[in-house]
Amino acid sequence: MDKLFLGVDFGGTKVNFTVMKGREFINLVKIRTGSISSVYDIVDKVSVGVERTGINKINAIGIGIAGMVDQIKGVGVYLTNLGKLTNVNLADTLSEKFGVPVFIDNDVDAALIAEKELGALNGIRNAVFISVGTGVGGGILIGGKIYIGKNGFAGEFGHITVRENGLKCNCGKRGCLETESSGTGIERYVRNRIKRGWKTKIDKIEAKRIAVFAKSGDVLATKAYQNAVHYLALTTGNLINIFNPEKVIFGGGVVESGLIVEAVKNLVSKYALPAFLKEVKIEKSILKGNTGAIGAALLARDRSSGKNIYIY
Ligand SMILES: [Zn+2]
Repeated sequence: MDKLFLGVDFGGTKVNFTVMKGREFINLVKIRTGSISSVYDIVDKVSVGVERTGINKINAIGIGIAGMVDQIKGVGVYLTNLGKLTNVNLADTLSEKFGVPVFIDNDVDAALIAEKELGALNGIRNAVFISVGTGVGGGILIGGKIYIGKNGFAGEFGHITVRENGLKCNCGKRGCLETESSGTGIERYVRNRIKRGWKTKIDKIEAKRIAVFAKSGDVLATKAYQNAVHYLALTTGNLINIFNPEKVIFGGGVVESGLIVEAVKNLVSKYALPAFLKEVKIEKSILKGNTGAIGAALLARDRSSGKNIYIY
């Protein structure tokens, strides 16, 4: 009998579930996150998802969660988008409730795990993953393992300072990559300039919609995306110089606009050393939709079998 692994992608607005059976991912379920004020709200949401998938025997659970986590201890250290919870013993609490081993990671690492097994990073040992959505996240693959650092937080590319004394970031610092290049950063760029009297045809200040106007030649929309791309290229070049990766993969909603990856490739030679650039491929992620949940199920499979997927 095939073992069953539950994968959960726990985001700030929705929670995606999938069940991995053999090589297949079945029982896709999506629910709303709703308000989260304690670890028990998270447990309740997972219970609802488990019920909806209709399975009664799981071997292990994997959760990819928006925030900073300690993968080894199974602790959600800073869950900024989930009721701002800190230091919650997520893996133990869920494990008690469901009677199976539970493993957690952040949502970007979960996506990286999925890409590594089924997508653009299959067979790749050294890579950098940059996720550009509402925020900017990152993951690092070294020697085929995920580099997590001392506390599990490594790869927060969104909070690399790209503009000294730049715009205020959610993290409290100024001038982070996320303030310029995330979906919210692109929206803020447009909003600030409209306030200053810029003329534009943009009818809704939403990253996806701004991309539509950029493609039809609206000057402000084009500039907003060019600004985002500029800082992504700068960061990508620096990451290439640090890690000498085989691939840099871009994922996330903003990348789906089609305005990011090729544009970054055109600019990155300004920042990366030529010898490094010759070897690196810069690509869009292959997997779509349920990537986080799929990666979380793979996380459950690998870690419950004792496989060491991390380097730190
Ligand atoms: Zn920041």
